[in-house]
Amino acid sequence: MQRERLLKVLVIGDLGVGKTSIIKRYVHQVFSQHYRATIGVDFALKVLNWDHKTVVRLQLWDIAGQERYGNMTRVYYREAVGALVVFDMTRLSTFQAILKWKGDLDSKVALSNGRPVPAVLLANKCDQRHHGLCPKLPKLENFSKEYGFVDWYETSAKDNTNIDAAITCLVKSIMSVE
Ligand code: GDP
Ligand code: MG
Repeated sequence: MQRERLLKVLVIGDLGVGKTSIIKRYVHQVFSQHYRATIGVDFALKVLNWDHKTVVRLQLWDIAGQERYGNMTRVYYREAVGALVVFDMTRLSTFQAILKWKGDLDSKVALSNGRPVPAVLLANKCDQRHHGLCPKLPKLENFSKEYGFVDWYETSAKDNTNIDAAITCLVKSIMSVE
């Protein structure tokens, strides 16, 4: 008998960092310069044959326009078991917002044992690194450990760099929690 796990995963971070692009890349293998900022909450589903006895139904929740308010309602966070926290490597302000997003997450949802839900940090748009703020970034290795991220990745939704790796890392961490 195969068992099925439904995982609600949030994708959070400031407007324009590439959240929708990451979801579209991962789920539909496409990239576009123009995604409309739809209003409300939207999610995409990807089914993973995780191991010989487990099918994972991964729900990736996009915040679609509401990120401009800087935090989300508890309803959005309810029953989430993990998060991708995204910033744009070329914009320092989006990096500075990471702790606010992580704080919002941890204040509004936790695992049933009270521990924070696993979160992976994504430094997106790494294809643009030459325009970026790389030298100004603190060592992400230390930063991500210090603030309780499971791990961090430089990603590009445009070039399809590390998107799979980052999401697989998060799902592994979620699956190991039980
Ligand atoms: P969201 O507001 O966080 O959902 O961001 P979007 O996914 O709408 O992306 C905002 C803009 O950044 C769009 O023009 C995307 O095409 C662009 N973008 C997203 N990811 C990348 C990336 O990895 N590299 C580059 N160069 N552009 C990206
Ligand atoms: Mg979006």
